[in-house]
Amino acid sequence: MLLENLRKEVLTAALQLIRYGLVTLTGGNVSGRDEQTGYIAITPSGMDYEQLSPSDIVIIDGAGNMVDGKWKASVDTKDHLYIYRQRPDIRGIIHTHSPYACSFAMLHREIPCCSTTLANEVGGSVPVARYTPVAEAAIGPAVMEVLGDKNACLLANHGVIAVGHSVRHALVAAVMLEDGAKVYHLASLKGAPVQLPPEEIEKARNVFLYTYGQNS
Ligand code: 13P
Ligand code: ZN
Repeated sequence: MLLENLRKEVLTAALQLIRYGLVTLTGGNVSGRDEQTGYIAITPSGMDYEQLSPSDIVIIDGAGNMVDGKWKASVDTKDHLYIYRQRPDIRGIIHTHSPYACSFAMLHREIPCCSTTLANEVGGSVPVARYTPVAEAAIGPAVMEVLGDKNACLLANHGVIAVGHSVRHALVAAVMLEDGAKVYHLASLKGAPVQLPPEEIEKARNVFLYTYGQNS
């Protein structure tokens, strides 16, 4: 099977989205980019992740043409391709409708960086991309207006985009963003959360980029 390992990585991450409560039914999508071919493996549109096997993941070339697969690719495929073109450093993209993060997206409200979790995994506060409709290839450009070199942003009135240097890393960013959004929400009920200073955000970010884990 073409790009079998990447297809498996994409499906594993999609199943983890359910486990971590980041998607409901067929909301959201997951993709990974193959370094050598530039092809992307992406979840099919509107299908239950728990019913999928690796061969159900669709392979698309950099121009959006179907290379291998039996299903229609996610409606957000062009947006994933746009983000990959603008961020050559990333190899995984995850889109969710995770509830705590989404509640900020509905308010068009950035999530300030008040926790090391957001500093580590997102790279600072979580910006909001302006509202754009689904399936019109407009989400990608809106995301890149605010994402910079961060690993996640909110989509106004819609959800979340998280990116990473692997599919797994994008999953970690999506999970930690939801965790950070939840904690910020809980703290806001008690008072005014204190923001981390920029130099501490950078330090915390660098630890996670270069030191944390087993691959430093
Ligand atoms: P797909 O099932 O086509 O990926 O759409 C889900 C979604 O969340 C659209 O934004
Ligand atoms: Zn969506």
